[in-house]
Amino acid sequence: MKRVICLALCLLLALPAALAEKAPESNGMDWQENDPWPFVIHHGDRFVPKVAVTMDDCYEFQWVEAAWKLVGQYGGAMTFYPVGDLLKEEKLQPGDRELWQAIADSSSEIGTHTHHHLKMTKLSDFNMALYSKYPQQVTDQLLGRHYPLRTLRPPFGSNNEALRRVLKIVGYHHVIHWEIASTDPEEVLSQVQNGSILLFHARKKDYVCLETVIPALAEADYELVTVSDLLGLPPLEEEEEIFLWNEHKAEYLRDL
Ligand SMILES: [Zn+2]
Repeated sequence: MKRVICLALCLLLALPAALAEKAPESNGMDWQENDPWPFVIHHGDRFVPKVAVTMDDCYEFQWVEAAWKLVGQYGGAMTFYPVGDLLKEEKLQPGDRELWQAIADSSSEIGTHTHHHLKMTKLSDFNMALYSKYPQQVTDQLLGRHYPLRTLRPPFGSNNEALRRVLKIVGYHHVIHWEIASTDPEEVLSQVQNGSILLFHARKKDYVCLETVIPALAEADYELVTVSDLLGLPPLEEEEEIFLWNEHKAEYLRDL
């Protein structure tokens, strides 16, 4: 009898843990099992001379293009975190689509800075899901194919447990913070080290800083890589069928 009670008790105790562990699997996130990194990232491997240059917001596409070309000149790659709303069909100017398509086709990478530049931690779970995942639809429509957005940089670097839970449910691999946020080349170069993630914005003063920083990093034998490369994520698996929020909304709502 004692043994039966003990067994029942053990099952009761183990059940919530088993359920909690099962939830992520239901979203097909097998990648998590082999991922040695924490969900929230501030830097990469300290023993590998790789640096990830990142550019947020992207309100002015001219500086996106200039930075991308500059990094390319030094054989490097970088990661852009545009606000999703800026990539919507009706906001595009002639040449914008071609620019983003060229970036997606290059060794550089596109992530997301969410759909609007809102403090995500203040939103409901549903809106956290909507504003973090809707950029996937916009990006796919921009590029004309499914280009998985795997990393997200939350506006103002603001995240909490609720947001991290939602981001896992909608399929993000990592929340990306940064290690160095400065437009002073001397400051950047004095702080940079293996695995550093550098934060810039698509503005003239940031580009001017990059004009000094990029050649100096290349000269110092740092490899300029995307955030995905820095974290050793598997290659992007692009597909023809684009992501539509409405087709996935019910599935996310069920898990929220
Ligand atoms: Zn921002």
